[in-house]
Amino acid sequence: MNNETCLFCQIVNNQTTANILYRDQQVTAFRDAHPAGPTHLLIVPNKHIESLNDIQDEEESLIGYMFSVARKLAAKEGVDQSGYRLVVNTRADGGQTVFHLHLHLIGGRRMHWPPG
Ligand code: 5GP
Ligand code: ZN
Repeated sequence: MNNETCLFCQIVNNQTTANILYRDQQVTAFRDAHPAGPTHLLIVPNKHIESLNDIQDEEESLIGYMFSVARKLAAKEGVDQSGYRLVVNTRADGGQTVFHLHLHLIGGRRMHWPPG
């Protein structure tokens, strides 16, 4: 299920180093290499799924699970009370640059709306 040319598959499979904070059977969470805030984590499924478009109906529980892991990591990072933003960029207009589904968890600073 993994894609050898995919950066996030390589991180999940320990073929590329990353600052990994959490890992279980379904997901891996690590720090973004170019943080957009004091806290910037990426939560990714261990399975290669290109984007949210490619989630099958029977995999929808994975989306909820990614949010659940994000909630716990937000508390662990100490941004749960100050607040944080969860983002899933999808394809070109969404600003997706890595085509392995990921949930951004960004916190530690005040963010603006609408996004750029
Ligand atoms: P996207 O733009 O696809 O939503 O987000 C991709 C994210 O991956 C970006 O925030 C980018 O900084 C991050 N990223 C790109 N290359 C690497 C890398 O090699 N390691 C880590 N940890 N993050 C990366
Ligand atoms: Zn992948």
